[in-house]
Amino acid sequence: MSCDFIELANRGVQGLHPYQAGKPIDELQRELGLAHIIKLASNENPLGPSPAAVAACQAELADITRYPDSNGFELKAALAAQLQISPAQLTLGNGSNDLIDLIAKVFLGPDTSAIFSQYGFAIYALATQACNARGISVPARDWGHDLAAMAAAVEEGTRLVYIANPNNPTGTAVGRDELVAFLRSVPASVVVVIDEAYTEYVIDPDFPNAVSLLDQFPNLVVFRTFSKAYGLAGLRVGYSVSSPHLADLLNRVRAPFNVSSLALTAAVAALGDQAYLERSRQLNQDGMQQLIKGCEALGLAFIPSLGNFLTIEVGHDAGNLYQRLLQEGVIVRPLAPYQMPNHLRVSIGLPEENAFFLDALKRVL
Ligand SMILES: *Cc1c(COP(=O)(O)O)cnc(C)c1O
Repeated sequence: MSCDFIELANRGVQGLHPYQAGKPIDELQRELGLAHIIKLASNENPLGPSPAAVAACQAELADITRYPDSNGFELKAALAAQLQISPAQLTLGNGSNDLIDLIAKVFLGPDTSAIFSQYGFAIYALATQACNARGISVPARDWGHDLAAMAAAVEEGTRLVYIANPNNPTGTAVGRDELVAFLRSVPASVVVVIDEAYTEYVIDPDFPNAVSLLDQFPNLVVFRTFSKAYGLAGLRVGYSVSSPHLADLLNRVRAPFNVSSLALTAAVAALGDQAYLERSRQLNQDGMQQLIKGCEALGLAFIPSLGNFLTIEVGHDAGNLYQRLLQEGVIVRPLAPYQMPNHLRVSIGLPEENAFFLDALKRVL
C-alpha cells in the first residue's frame, strides 16, 4: 500500500501552493512555435548582462571544480566599501529569495506570525507558511502598504514584518517619514525586513535608503539583489544588511555554499560597473514613459510605479488577455494569483520590445 506523504509533510507544507513564475521564452516557443517572442514577465534587466560581469565569469570558469568561498570575502568587501558598513553586517543569499526564507527559518515557527501587505511580494506568505507560522495579510491602501494598519496588526507572537519598497507587483513605495514613523511604532522585538529589490531604479529624492536607518533601528534588516538593475537574475545572488547579531543568526541557517563562484565574481564586477547601472536606469526611465504614453493612448489606467515594471488595469478579462498576448508572442504577468484579476504586470523592456507589446495589446483589446 502506498503512503499518503501529504499527511506526513510538515503542516505548513500541506497547504502550500508553489510560486507561479513568469513563463520562460523556451516554454512558449515549444508550445506555439512562434518565431518572435518577447518576455516582459519577470522584471529582468532588458540590457543583457554587464560586459564586465560576463568577462569575470569567463575568467572564473577554470576554477569551477572548486567550491566557492563560503564567506564571500571579496563580494562582502566590495559591498561594505560601497555601502560604508562593516562586512560583518552582510549575509549573502542565493538571490534575495534565499534571504526571505532564511529569515523566516530563524524567527518563525508554530505560535508565531509574520505580517505583510495584501499585495506584497508573494514569497513572504510562502516562506511564512513553510515554517508553520501564521501569515497576517494586512489590507492595502491605494495598492500599497498601509503601514499604520500593519503596525496595529502586530500581536504577541509576531516576529517578522516584510515590506517591499518599492513593492512588487504594484510598484508602490513608502516614503522616508512614513517608514521612520513605522519603525518607531513597532516593538523592538519585531524584526522588520525592508526588501529593496528595485531600489537602484528609484530617482525620487524622498525615497528612503533603509541601510541609512540601520544605526537607529537594530531590528531592521535590508535585502537587496543583483537580479534586477544589476542584470544577474540567472546567477542568483542577493544580500542582506543588518546588525552583526542578526547577520550571525542568518549565517547559522544558510547553506554553506549558497552562492556559486560564478555568481560571486559576477556580482563584484557588476557592482564596479557604474556605467551599466546608469544605462539600466536611463533605459528604465525612458521605457516607463513609453509604456505610460501607450497606456494613456489606449485609455488604460495603471498604478504609478517606481520599479522596472508597470501594472496596468485591463478590466475583468485580464486572464484571457494574457492568453491572447501569448498567442502574439508577448509574455507578461497575469496578477490573478495576487487577487488582482483586472491587472497585468509588464516589465520595462527595450524600446522595440515595449513598442511590440503596445502594438500587441492594442490588437488583443
Ligand atoms: C525580484 C524580487 C526579489 C528578488 O529576487 P531574487 O532574484 O531572488 O534576488 C525580491 N523581492 C522582490 C520584491 C522582488 O520583486
